[in-house]
Amino acid sequence: MDKKSLAFLEKLTNSFGPAGFEKEPTRIVRDYVKRYSDATSTDGLGSLLFTKKGTSETPVVLIPGHVDEVGFIVSSINKLGYLTFNPLGGWFDQVLLGQRVKVRTSKGLIPGIIAAKPPHLLPTEERSKVVVKDKMFIDIGASNEEEAKEMGIRIGNPVMPDSTFSTIDKKVFSKGKRKGSDTIAIGKAFDDRIGAFIAAEVVKTLKEKRIAHPNTVVGAATTQEEVGLRGARTTAYVVKPDVCLTLEVDIAGDVPGIEANEAPTKMGMGPSITTYDSSMIPNQELLEFVISAADKAKIPHQLSQMARGGTDAGIIHISNAGCPSLVIGVPTRHIHAHAGMLSLTDTENAVKLLVEVVKKLDKKKVASFTEV
Ligand SMILES: [Zn+2]
Repeated sequence: MDKKSLAFLEKLTNSFGPAGFEKEPTRIVRDYVKRYSDATSTDGLGSLLFTKKGTSETPVVLIPGHVDEVGFIVSSINKLGYLTFNPLGGWFDQVLLGQRVKVRTSKGLIPGIIAAKPPHLLPTEERSKVVVKDKMFIDIGASNEEEAKEMGIRIGNPVMPDSTFSTIDKKVFSKGKRKGSDTIAIGKAFDDRIGAFIAAEVVKTLKEKRIAHPNTVVGAATTQEEVGLRGARTTAYVVKPDVCLTLEVDIAGDVPGIEANEAPTKMGMGPSITTYDSSMIPNQELLEFVISAADKAKIPHQLSQMARGGTDAGIIHISNAGCPSLVIGVPTRHIHAHAGMLSLTDTENAVKLLVEVVKKLDKKKVASFTEV
């Protein structure tokens, strides 16, 4: 990945943006894409739209990725100066304890730790149990309510995981043979800033390489996905897409304990094409079209399926009069935690696949997706 793109990904994933508080990552995307887009705008829920005109006004091809991340919101300050919190998005209680966070206040970002009563003081039978987040608090070093308030803390402050982007270069081996190399990114908020990143890189590639496309591409950095696909609703209403390729993380199945039938894709084996999730059955003609575009361009890819969970596409495909939709993802390990992992080669291949698909999505092709 070139340095400029990597620096953009780093800045984007490090930025502060739990669901409902996405201005910082949205601005980073806007500043990056504006020179490659014909127009940028935002909707009433804060989602960013960036348009790249092709040789025909229609069809309108929407490529959204959500820029919110899972985080927290301060619910109270107790007498000892500790903060209680509600989750913004889905968290597994077990990954929270002992983690660093940053609380955003009017006086800046305050570092803190998610903590609970120490195990030494718990009765034996309690020590083996998972501590629930209702019993946790954020310690910001205050000793009473006044000190916390003086730091700028108040009810409603948003909180994000404190986690910094980094990379690991590795040599790839498969069945005992050397198969090139890859760079693995570690960081927070890959769900789903990687999607917004891919959308931005697609528009950049179309512009820089002067690639002709018989449609209008609308990239979107949507908001509030993690709290119920809310930004997707207004984005679909504003854009009225004729076809949608939602960009997301996919749950990588190459983690001990995960069976192939639970998550079939692996990190580093190519972008994933989702054949089913609990929010959408993709348009079958679009699915076949994308698979054959990947085959023809020799872009590695994996078929995926997710029994539980959904994406922005779950809302977009039933918006307006309905919209042929598909989810293309980057297999990511350890999502909804302080740090996940994904392959930059998979990410680059997702961009390549999208560009290949966008090049071919003309009026006739898109009409064929819903013909009977
Ligand atoms: Zn998520």
